[in-house]
Amino acid sequence: MFNIIIFGPPGAGKGTQSAKLLDKYNLTHLSTGDVFRSNIKGETELGLLAKSYIDKGELVPDEVTIAMVKDFVQQHADSTGFIFDGFPRTISQGEALSEILAEHNEKIDIVLALEVDEDELVKRLLERGKISGRADDQDEGTIRNRFKEYLNKTEPLLDFYRNKNLLHSVQGMGSIDDIFNRLVQEVDSVKA
Ligand code: ADP
Repeated sequence: MFNIIIFGPPGAGKGTQSAKLLDKYNLTHLSTGDVFRSNIKGETELGLLAKSYIDKGELVPDEVTIAMVKDFVQQHADSTGFIFDGFPRTISQGEALSEILAEHNEKIDIVLALEVDEDELVKRLLERGKISGRADDQDEGTIRNRFKEYLNKTEPLLDFYRNKNLLHSVQGMGSIDDIFNRLVQEVDSVKA
């Protein structure tokens, strides 16, 4: 397996770049945000629970998110690798992910961190809100809360992965293709 984490603040372009990376490297995509949204749409128990946090711009509790990821990895154990998009978002989730992969004799191979200015992020999220109808992208208060959660809980993961020598930061401003080419360079620098 070859396992990638795509990392960055809300609106950094993780989903867009994941779609292109999946295609190029033939990987399985796990976007925890997408899984939550499809559960919300299907009105499942998990969806109901997740919605109460997502609508406020808060993170869904670790135990819920971790159990979901564990299940997903189990169900796709024959995959040639994963792109984790929007997970991990806390140090506990990062530790849990290492354990989940270790149970399958696997590990994270690279963490790609997209760097984007905050002004640009807010602009992108509000634009996306108009098109996608995502409620959490339409309200500036919710967006601000997501940034707060990112700074407090998610950003510490940068050091967590830097210490493991897995962190590759990439400039996330510019055209989609330029950013993609930068990501590919980083992946190819570690992929045998
Ligand atoms: P974005 O990166 O633009 O914020 P996502 O689709 O990744 O969008 O996430 C949307 C929301 O789903 C988050 O604000 C959070 O409430 C919830 N969520 C997604 N992934 C996680 C996670 N790993 N842990 C906790 N909550 C999550």
